[in-house]
Amino acid sequence: MQLRYNYRVYPTPAQQASLARAFGCARVVFNDGLRARQQAREAGEAYLSDGDLSKRVITQAKQTPEREWLGEVSAVVLQQALADLNVAYRNFFTSISGKRQGRKVAPPRFRSRKDNRQAIRFTANARFKVLDNGRLRLPKIGDLAVRWSRHLPAAPTSVTVIRDAAGRYFASFVVVAADDPLPPVDAEVGIDLGLTHFAVLSNGKKVAAPKFLRRAARKLRRLQQDLSRKQRGSNNRKKAVVKVARAHARVADSRRDWQHRLSTRIIRDNQAVYVEDLCVVGLGRTRLAKSVHDAGWAQFVQMLEYKAARRGRTFAKTNRFLPTSQTCSTCGRIDGPKPLSVRSWTCPCGAVHDRDVNAARNILAAGRAESLNACGAQVRPAPLPAPRREAGIRPDAVRSTRSVEGISVP
Ligand SMILES: [Zn+2]
Repeated sequence: MQLRYNYRVYPTPAQQASLARAFGCARVVFNDGLRARQQAREAGEAYLSDGDLSKRVITQAKQTPEREWLGEVSAVVLQQALADLNVAYRNFFTSISGKRQGRKVAPPRFRSRKDNRQAIRFTANARFKVLDNGRLRLPKIGDLAVRWSRHLPAAPTSVTVIRDAAGRYFASFVVVAADDPLPPVDAEVGIDLGLTHFAVLSNGKKVAAPKFLRRAARKLRRLQQDLSRKQRGSNNRKKAVVKVARAHARVADSRRDWQHRLSTRIIRDNQAVYVEDLCVVGLGRTRLAKSVHDAGWAQFVQMLEYKAARRGRTFAKTNRFLPTSQTCSTCGRIDGPKPLSVRSWTCPCGAVHDRDVNAARNILAAGRAESLNACGAQVRPAPLPAPRREAGIRPDAVRSTRSVEGISVP
């Protein structure tokens, strides 16, 4: 399985300048490629193949006076920028043709110098290297100081260098790690991603988001209000933007750490883990409530999924639309909708239910049933790519609430 390992790196001012140049070149190649495809489309020409595009916006472009500076950065960085564009296009195509499940994918967009997150990727071809002295050698950038917060378990196949909105730099390594199954246990669990709690387990445990996180979120909201009162284009606004980005990064980091501990514990203690599909959750719940936990849930479910795969546990999202909070988990009777204020209820069969725990039990039952239907195979054998987003990064930290946070490996 491919896993990501993320570390903070500390480039010198000269290295920061080289990185800025590389970010810029990667962006230009990406945008040139996007423009070339858009123009071909408007002219009614065929879709430019990956190979043709690479020739045009990298190889040939370097020969022109307007783009000869592309030669100053590693060619791999430029190829990888185009590879990103190609993937974005393919995702878009499979999405409009209906071959891709889940949320609709928008066509690729131009990258901007003002994007909060800048990134470049080096593959093995680029001959990046972790040196014996612990520095990370990147072609045409130099030897970067790395804070090795944990051990890298194998030689990495690629490294992405990121600058986030708070001005921090990270190296995100992709490592192919062997599966590491845990000894089997009997317990199985259903998880209700609740409104009053972050998660409620079918065994009755309720997990609230920790106080420090809620406090940090409140502080962040205040900083954002400060920001919104600053005049556009002013220096004070720029300062406030950085402040918000830093606070965002801190909240995201501590939330991720906390979710790592929680997901590791759940995977360790249970042989099978079932959660409601988040799309289904979205249908049944109000927008507001969803937005409160949304990013956090998606990241958490992703953690459960890859940890289960690596640790030899069963993981499944219950896919069917189930009225999990209306159904009695004892007798199966559907007792009608209940307003959110109803925290517990008694079924005519005599069972007394805590609303959330009952929902989690129904999710567990649904997960088990679907697993059996699939003859013991995984309910939905979802492909497990390397978690793509890097830790410590909020792609649109300042201007958007859409972004989903990255994940890293504990
Ligand atoms: Zn009942």
